[in-house]
Amino acid sequence: MPEKILVSACLLGIGCRYDGKEKENPRVKKLLENPDVVLIPVCPEQLGGLSTPRTASERSGDRVINQAGEDVTVQYQKGAEQA
Ligand code: SF4
Repeated sequence: MPEKILVSACLLGIGCRYDGKEKENPRVKKLLENPDVVLIPVCPEQLGGLSTPRTASERSGDRVINQAGEDVTVQYQKGAEQA
């Protein structure tokens, strides 16, 4: 039975990043040719309820704050749990 691998959707070429772009990674994309694995693309930021495009965010201590100064920690926690 093929191994299931959770993979960041943007690395497979899906435009789910904050700016609506993708970040395709050739090594990750090559895994699509491997019959022994099944890739499951997910975007935790989207799963947490954030839109695409969205305001960029980064960690600030134990919180996640976007560039507009909004606390989006709850969305990131939800996205992590969903993933
Ligand atoms: S959260 Fe979404 S956009 Fe960010 S690295 Fe993961 S898949 Fe890519």
